[in-house]
Amino acid sequence: MHTVYNWVEGREISSGGQLVPVLNPATDTQVAAVEFATAEIVSRAVAAAEQAGTAWARVPQARRAHVLLKFRELLLAQRDEVAELITAEHGKTVDDARGEIARALESVELAAGGPALVMGGTSLQTGPDIDTRSVLHPVGVCVGITPFNFPIMMGMMMASVALSAGNAFIWKPSEQDPSAALRVAQLFKEAGLPDGVLSVIHGAKEIAEQLIEDPRTQAVSFVGSSLAAKDVYTRASQAGKRAQAFGGAKNHLIVMPDADLDSTADQIAAASFGAAGQRCMAISVAVVVGAPAAPLLDRIAERARAVQLNGGHVAGTEVGPVVSRQAQQRIQGIVRDAIAAGATAVVDRSTEVVPGLEQGYFVGPTVLSDVSLDSPAYEQEIFGPVLVVIRVDTLDEAIKLIRNHRYGNGASIFTRDGAAVNRFEREATAGMLGVNVAIPVPVAGYAVQGWKDSVFGDTGLNNASWSFYTRPKYVTTRWESRAGMDFGFRPN
Ligand code: NAD
Repeated sequence: MHTVYNWVEGREISSGGQLVPVLNPATDTQVAAVEFATAEIVSRAVAAAEQAGTAWARVPQARRAHVLLKFRELLLAQRDEVAELITAEHGKTVDDARGEIARALESVELAAGGPALVMGGTSLQTGPDIDTRSVLHPVGVCVGITPFNFPIMMGMMMASVALSAGNAFIWKPSEQDPSAALRVAQLFKEAGLPDGVLSVIHGAKEIAEQLIEDPRTQAVSFVGSSLAAKDVYTRASQAGKRAQAFGGAKNHLIVMPDADLDSTADQIAAASFGAAGQRCMAISVAVVVGAPAAPLLDRIAERARAVQLNGGHVAGTEVGPVVSRQAQQRIQGIVRDAIAAGATAVVDRSTEVVPGLEQGYFVGPTVLSDVSLDSPAYEQEIFGPVLVVIRVDTLDEAIKLIRNHRYGNGASIFTRDGAAVNRFEREATAGMLGVNVAIPVPVAGYAVQGWKDSVFGDTGLNNASWSFYTRPKYVTTRWESRAGMDFGFRPN
C-alpha cells in the first residue's frame, strides 16, 4: 500500500495532512492512502505556480510543445502500469483504462499543436495609417478540478492545452482515485516540465474552494456533478475569474423504426453498461419510436444478461464494479424504488454478487421499462449500468423528451432517414449529438460540450480551450507622425 502525496514544487511533499483511505472497488480493500493538502500546502503550490508560470510563459512555444510530446512518449511507454493503477482505484476494466489513457493522449496531441494554433492576427488600416494586432497571452495560474470517472483524461484535457498556451496548472483530482494524476505529474517532470508549473493537490470540496478563492489563481475548469459544477461556477465568477464547469448527464438515444435492431442493440448495450455506466456520455435512456420497441427490448435484454460482470483486473471482464459502496447503494436504491413504483424490471442484475469478490461494489446491467417520467430513475443521473427504455409513437415525442430534460450533455439517433436526422440535429438540446453513433465524442478537439444543466459557462473543453486558456490583447499602432489636435471622437 502506498501513500499519495501532494505534488508541489516538482516533488512529492508530505504536509502532515489528513490521510484518507483509497479503496479498490472490486475488493473493498484499501490500496492506498491519500494525504489531503493543508491550507499551507495549497498556498505553496499557488506561489510556486505563479513564479514558475511566469518563466514558463517565456519558454518558446515549440519548446513547450516538445515537453508535451516527450510526456506523450513516456506515458505511452508506461500505459499498462498506469492503466492498472486506474483499475485498482476506479474499478473500470484494464482495457477501458487503456482506452482512457489513449483519449488523454489525444488531448496532448491536440495541445502539441499550440505553436500552429495560438495565433493572433493583424488588421491593416484600422484607422488612418493605423494597424491593429491581437495577441494572445497566457492567463496565469489555472486550476482544474476533476471527477472520479476519468482519473486522468479530464485533467489532461485541461492541463495539456493550458500548459501548451504558457500557463501554470494546479490539478485537484478526485480524492477517490488520485494515484494516476500523481503519476502524470511525475512523468511531466521527467519530460522536462519545470518544477512548479504543474502541481497536483489532493483533497475534497474545501481544498477546491481554497484554490478557487486564492486571489493568485486566474481561471477555473471543473468537471463533475451538476450541483458542484454550479457551485464552482458561481464561486469562481463571484471571485472575478473565468470559469468553465461541466456537470452531469442523462443521455437519450432515439431509435427510429428503420434502424437495424441487432447493431442498434449492440451499440445501446455497450454505451449503457460500459464502464458500469459511469461515463458522462453513457446512454441512460433509449427512446424507441413505434413498432420496434418489443423486439429491440428483447435484444437489449439478451445482451444485458450476457454481460461479463467481474473485477476490472480479471481478463474477459466487460463491466467492473461502480466506484464506491455509497454509489452501489444509491444505484440499487433507485432501481428498487422504480420497481416498487411500477416500473418493469426487464433485466435486474442490480444486486448481483460476483463469486470470489463478494465484498466488491458491483451493480450488474439492469434494464427498466414503464418508468414514470417524474421518477428519480428518469429525472436523475443514475451514473450506473441502468438503462431506462421508453416507447413513444413519434419522433416529435422523442425529441420533446430530450428538450424537456434538465440535462443536455449528449443525445443520439439511430436511423437511415435523413429528414429525421435533420430534425433531430436542429431540435435536440444537447451539446454532443450522434447519428448512428451512441457515444459521439470523436476526438479531443470536439469533446466536452454540454447544454442546460450539463454545463455552466460558455467554452467547451475542446478546441475552444485555446481561447479559455489565453487572454487577448489588442495593440493599435501608428508609426507615421501626425500633426494637429482633434478634440472630437471621429469615425475612421
Ligand atoms: P463530484 O461532483 O462529486 O466531484 C468532482 C470533483 O469536484 C472532485 O474532485 C471533488 O472532490 C470536487 N468537488 C465536489 N464537490 C465540490 C464543490 N462543491 N466545490 C468544489 N469541488 C467539489 O463528481 P464525481 O462523482 O467525482 O464525478 C461524477 C460526475 O461527473 C457525474 O455527474 C458525471 O456526469 C460528471 N462528469 C461530467 C462530464 C462532462 O463532460 N460533462 C465528464 C465526466 C464526468
